[in-house]
Amino acid sequence: MEKEEVATGHTFFGMYDYLVVGAGLFGSVFAHEAALKGKKVMVIEKRDHIAGNIYTKEVEGIQVHEYGAHIFHTSDKEIWDYVTQFAEFNRYTNSPVANYKGEIYNLPFNMNTFNKLWGVVTPAEAQAKIDEQRAVLNSKIPENLEEQAISLVGTDIYEKLIKDYTEKQWGKPTTELPAFIIRRLPVRLTYDNNYFNDTYQGIPIGGYTQIVEKMLAHENIDVETGIDFFDKKGEYLKSFPKIVFTGMIDQFFDYEFGELEYRSLHFDTEILNVENYQGNAVVNYTDAETPYTRIIEHKHFEFGMQDKTIITKEYSKTWTRGDEPYYPVNNERNNHLYKEYQKLAAKQKNVIFGGRLGQYCYYDMHQVIAAALQCVKGEFGE
Ligand code: FAD
Ligand code: UDP
Repeated sequence: MEKEEVATGHTFFGMYDYLVVGAGLFGSVFAHEAALKGKKVMVIEKRDHIAGNIYTKEVEGIQVHEYGAHIFHTSDKEIWDYVTQFAEFNRYTNSPVANYKGEIYNLPFNMNTFNKLWGVVTPAEAQAKIDEQRAVLNSKIPENLEEQAISLVGTDIYEKLIKDYTEKQWGKPTTELPAFIIRRLPVRLTYDNNYFNDTYQGIPIGGYTQIVEKMLAHENIDVETGIDFFDKKGEYLKSFPKIVFTGMIDQFFDYEFGELEYRSLHFDTEILNVENYQGNAVVNYTDAETPYTRIIEHKHFEFGMQDKTIITKEYSKTWTRGDEPYYPVNNERNNHLYKEYQKLAAKQKNVIFGGRLGQYCYYDMHQVIAAALQCVKGEFGE
């Protein structure tokens, strides 16, 4: 037993510079960079594996995205260079299709979508159709997701491809959701089905888990899975000089001001004895009747040629305590409440809150890496 341990009764006292709570992308980038600076880091993770929501697992020779489709995309060369240190990426370009009651439309909203829906051929014809339909808004500045959607693509697309999908995904009327959510999707007057506008895009060959494995494979880092921070919160706070916390910020403060809202998911995965089930990696079901939001067919992320295939149906559900909180719901009420938690966080000098849950922010992977590297700069300088 260490000398300090005997003196304080705290198992880890004096052994580490940092405790990182959560072995997802934020925690792992931080741990990796801190280790490179010579710091000793303990990482704890409550799941039985590392990599958080980007975790992939090989089944039947196929990389299965266990927590939903993950496509890496960024326009920031620094972030692309950073992530490609840890894996080689393939040329996958995300181009999901929407299935509305058996009718198939290309996403994001582009000339292929407009042509299929309206028979228009030129960008000018498509724009005229959108302008005609958005007139229902009377030039009002969009204040919610419904108004923003109609203003971008008109009422037909809103009704067939946005309204029901969004209400299934978020469990709220589109009039009660923030406009920014729909602005994640490009709208283009070109025949281009690329879901992202970013310069760099792809899927790591061999899956995402290896990225986090490599980040954490350093002699200065110890990792323990199956450990929940809240089982020994008091002890951890006393034993580690600094903590990087990537779990839920409201839970950290024992929901003192009430719960932030999250959206949870349920994944239903099947191995099928067919070579090609749906012909695309991602198909969104945009009607209200289909209970799931999308089906992903994992082999298509890597152009797989296996005899079998693996599909996952993704169902969205209300989060209640104990469920996995996959999405923050960044509406006005929750953002306001989060600000109150941020004030508490500012007083907690030895704890850094990071990532989708710690910062209560609808971050994509490239944004999480950027936020973690920013945090590293804050700790260690350039
Ligand atoms: P997480 O990955 O959630 O990691 C946090 C970790 O902390 C988890 O492993 C959790 O178990 C652990 N933890 C929490 N509380 C505790 C505790 N009390 N004790 C111990 N451990 C704890 N991004 C993209 O760029 N492209 C995509 O295509 C994309 N698709 C997505 C699809 C879905 C369905 C979802 C949900 C997200 C998607 N994302 C995508 C976003 C991406 O998953 C996140 O940006 C990223 O994984 C967030 O990393 P993180 O470290 O902040 O959080
Ligand atoms: N969206 C939609 N129809 C679609 C795909 C997306 O209405 O077919 C809306 C929906 O509100 C969704 C948002 O666009 O929540 C953002 O979509 P994205 O694919 O970025 O969501 P994520 O992959 O993060 O769940």
